[in-house]
Amino acid sequence: MEMDYWVSIPKVELHAHLNGSVRDSTLLELAKELGEKGIILFSDVEHVILKNDRSLTEVFKMFDLIHILTTDHDTVTRITKEVVEDFASENVVYLELRTTPKRNDSRGMTKHSYMEAVVEGLRRVDAFNIDFALTETELWKKGTSCQRNNECGCLSKRKIYVRLLLSIDRRETLEAAMETVKLALDMRNLGVVGIDLSGNPKVGEWTTFLPALRFAREQGLRVTLHCGEVPNQEEIHGMLDFLPERIGHACCLEEDAWRKLKTSKIPVEICLTSNIRTNTISSIAVHHFADLYSTKHPLILCTDDSGVFSTSLSKEYAIAAAAFGLGKKEMFQLAKNAVEYSFAEDKVVSELKDFFDTVEAEFSL
Ligand code: 5GP
Repeated sequence: MEMDYWVSIPKVELHAHLNGSVRDSTLLELAKELGEKGIILFSDVEHVILKNDRSLTEVFKMFDLIHILTTDHDTVTRITKEVVEDFASENVVYLELRTTPKRNDSRGMTKHSYMEAVVEGLRRVDAFNIDFALTETELWKKGTSCQRNNECGCLSKRKIYVRLLLSIDRRETLEAAMETVKLALDMRNLGVVGIDLSGNPKVGEWTTFLPALRFAREQGLRVTLHCGEVPNQEEIHGMLDFLPERIGHACCLEEDAWRKLKTSKIPVEICLTSNIRTNTISSIAVHHFADLYSTKHPLILCTDDSGVFSTSLSKEYAIAAAAFGLGKKEMFQLAKNAVEYSFAEDKVVSELKDFFDTVEAEFSL
């Protein structure tokens, strides 16, 4: 099937890391600027940015480099706007974007100001009609007059809902993780709906963060965990017993854990290209998507890091359709089902379901 088709169908993205989704062209531009200022050696980083195959360990080195390039307020705002516009332009109608709030004393950045820069990026999206839980004041500030005569052209633009997840990096302390959860709670009216645990799976113990994750849950935030990127069965069992609202990857589960996952019905965020590129799964032919799909286990196709892995959600749909022999109808259904597993508020879920129903009827899918 043509790539155009996968671009054209409405899609839902639930596992995308902000700094992993930055365009190569933006990274190169930022690297050039820092090179000119003598902060980095451009020739050293250019080939790293353009490299395509990276092991899991190399991927985390790449993130350290990306963070050097992106972690100031203006750049965080810029990449947020660009990432949202990139997803919207390939017909992603709901995006749950996750990012790790960062403190950077040398740039006067706190976790709070980092997140303000992210939200500013959402406000600056103008090529699309963005819904990111604007409060009344925000609406006023944005001067959204579209409800009166569509003066700003807002109503004629394609719509994308964006909600945010704040990530805890496994390198952090419990205290830092708590700060992130409290920040998420403070920013609920700006579309923060949950907490993610990510970062290098070979680093730290997930149990360090349990008090913060429990607190998040008690306060009504949803939780998703990167689970099973490495074959640490004790950790995998512990994570599944916690019953997070979703998990990411689920690659290295031995039989017991696999059975537990299936019984739990925890939805799995599947990132095909990421798993193959990092060699977490040896080939698409043996990917666990097939088993989960055939047993009707809740799953969502996602990109993980569209920039780092040179992919897009449309490409992931194309890959899944070709590899697992799925047709237009099945793939559309997969996208539609993803709405159910989002962390958005009921009103948004219901609007999205109506939208998918309308498209389905229109195209007799
Ligand atoms: P950020 O949170 O800085 O916006 O996005 C990049 C960060 O997301 C990385 O530093 C890392 O902590 C996390 N991340 C991105 N991709 C992966 C992945 O495939 N696995 C894990 N465990 N963490 C990831």
